[in-house]
Amino acid sequence: MNEKPFHKRRLKKGIDLSMKCPFCGYSESKVVDSRPAEEGATIRRRRECLSCQKRFTTYEIMERLPLIVVKKDGSRQTFDKQKLVNGMLRACEKRPVPLAELTDVADQIEQDLQNSLEREIKTTDIGEMIMTGLKSLDEVAYVRFASVYRQFRDINSFMDELNRLLTDD
Ligand SMILES: [Zn+2]
Repeated sequence: MNEKPFHKRRLKKGIDLSMKCPFCGYSESKVVDSRPAEEGATIRRRRECLSCQKRFTTYEIMERLPLIVVKKDGSRQTFDKQKLVNGMLRACEKRPVPLAELTDVADQIEQDLQNSLEREIKTTDIGEMIMTGLKSLDEVAYVRFASVYRQFRDINSFMDELNRLLTDD
C-alpha cells in the first residue's frame, strides 16, 4: 500500500483524468482557468478537452475531512464546534462577552485545525487554543476556563496561573 494521498495524485500540471469531456467523452482535459467561488469552498474550473478542444466548466468542492478529538482517556469523537462555544459560554457567565465573539473564536479554531495536517487533535490542544482566544476577549473568562482545562490541583497552582497572567504583558 503506497498509494499517494488524493491531492498528490496528479499527472502533468493542469491535466487530470477525473473529468470526461461532455462533448466527446475524452478523459483528458487541461485547466485553462480556475477561480474560487463561495468563499473558497468551491473551485470553478474552465477546462479544455485535449481531444476536441471544446471548453467546459467543472466545479470542485473542497473535501472537508472530519476532525477527530482525542480525549484524555484515549476515546475519540468527531469535532463539534458547538461544544467549544458552550465551553466558552460557561467560562463567560455574567461577563460582558458577546456570543458573536465566542463563535468567531470557535470558527477560527476550526479553521486552524482544518488547515493543519493533523486529523486527530487532543482535547488539551483545543483547550490551549480556546485559552488563547479567551485571553484576548476577557481575562476572567480565561482564568475560569484555564482552571477547568488545566485542572489545577490546588489553590496554589491556580494562584500561580493568575499571577502569571497578571504579570505577563
Ligand atoms: Zn472533447
